[in-house]
Amino acid sequence: MDTLRDVLTRLEREGTGLGHFNVADVTLLKAVIAAANDTGLPVLVGASEGEREFFGVRQLGALVKSLREETGLSVFLNADHTHSLKKAVEAANAGFDSVGVDFSALPFDENVAQTKQVVQAIKAVNPAIIAEGEVGDIGTGSEIHESAQADFRNLTTPEQARQFVDATGIDILAPAVGNRHGMARSMVEGKAKKHLDLERIAQIKRAAGVSLTLHGGSGTEDEHFRKAIAAGINIIHINTELRVAWRRSLEESLARDSNEVVPYKILRPVVDAVKEVVISRLRLFHGEAVSRDAVEGVKA
Ligand SMILES: [Zn+2]
Repeated sequence: MDTLRDVLTRLEREGTGLGHFNVADVTLLKAVIAAANDTGLPVLVGASEGEREFFGVRQLGALVKSLREETGLSVFLNADHTHSLKKAVEAANAGFDSVGVDFSALPFDENVAQTKQVVQAIKAVNPAIIAEGEVGDIGTGSEIHESAQADFRNLTTPEQARQFVDATGIDILAPAVGNRHGMARSMVEGKAKKHLDLERIAQIKRAAGVSLTLHGGSGTEDEHFRKAIAAGINIIHINTELRVAWRRSLEESLARDSNEVVPYKILRPVVDAVKEVVISRLRLFHGEAVSRDAVEGVKA
């Protein structure tokens, strides 16, 4: 069985990206696993602190482990946006393959110091664990925002990226390169797209020399994903697009028959709807031509 590190090395060589999809419950997890199964592509399952709290940290770790063993699929687990030493160590102990350490709201020096401490602590639990650190402002909340955020003040500079990687010992850097968490309403409606600072990605890649993660991928122009991967992005996070598909399909499913009370009958179409979005993103990150249907369905 390949490790996450093996998969990242292989995909980088192929010039493709790894999809990271957040889950808050079993319905979403089933959708991501089904997409990995249908495409044969590796996936990185993510859960933020809030998602982990709802799911159960150890329960999510155990479930992903059992799914990986049963299916033989390359399914990995990331503790997304972890803001404390305690929660990072908790995830490492629960068998997570990687931890996204996020002290990006702190001043640079403080971010360096805290991130370094957490990286050392989780590698003491599991030397093979992959540590991600974050520099710059990519906003908070994978939600629908009323308007697109116009000001990108705190973008990561190549010099910051190099210093941060050298000082903290992280394996993966999450930079701010025009990406932003959540989607503006205009993006959900399909009227607007996010655009990335592709030249900055390339400069950061050269300066930092590590794998790069793109957070807040939902609503990004397809062509920018392809170019971002070519410029050095290795992992792409998609959350809001899944949440929008989850809610819409759940509402549709509930509306279909007001007498239906069997949870697995109500939730099966939800798994399918979220799976289609995951598949379309996986194919895109893998460099395949993608029909927009699955994602257009999200916007309908
Ligand atoms: Zn994120």
